[in-house]
Amino acid sequence: MSRPPENPSARPIPRTVTAMTPPDPVIDLGSDRFFMSQALRQATRAFEADEVPVGAVIVRDGSIIARAFNQVELLRDATAHAEMLALSQAFSAVGDWRLTDCDLYVTKEPCPMCAGALVHARIRRVIFGCRDPKAGGAGGLINLLQHPNLNHHCQLTPEIMAPESLDLLRGFFRLKRQAP
Ligand SMILES: [Zn+2]
Repeated sequence: MSRPPENPSARPIPRTVTAMTPPDPVIDLGSDRFFMSQALRQATRAFEADEVPVGAVIVRDGSIIARAFNQVELLRDATAHAEMLALSQAFSAVGDWRLTDCDLYVTKEPCPMCAGALVHARIRRVIFGCRDPKAGGAGGLINLLQHPNLNHHCQLTPEIMAPESLDLLRGFFRLKRQAP
């Protein structure tokens, strides 16, 4: 291959051009880890409220429009999972039951009830922390988020910050077992 003739007017690219390119931020505001860390904050609030520590946030256009934690004990409502509470907030925020441009981050794999609700709401993408191999509705027990017989499929990203999510759950149940 022949090289193109040198252009005498071409100047070497000054180093400042590369210096102007911002370095990768420590926290990428658009990253799954950032939004999962927000869901983990919700899970920590559940822990502090003596609820099974699961938290969720819903993101639309890069902004969090709903955040919730599990409140089954507080509300004495078996359906008050973090995902269900976050969905209700998101319906209000969007003004529609269709959340086709929304993504849900939850610290633990959704149960079948929540997975069913997420499909009904037409959530675009579900990102979860630790898996629930026994009872999960996103592949553990059954994958309702991508069931061939259902008319909506969610994109699925498992195991984002899974160790952090699992540590919180294990710590909670360890305390429960120690309680008199
Ligand atoms: Zn659930």
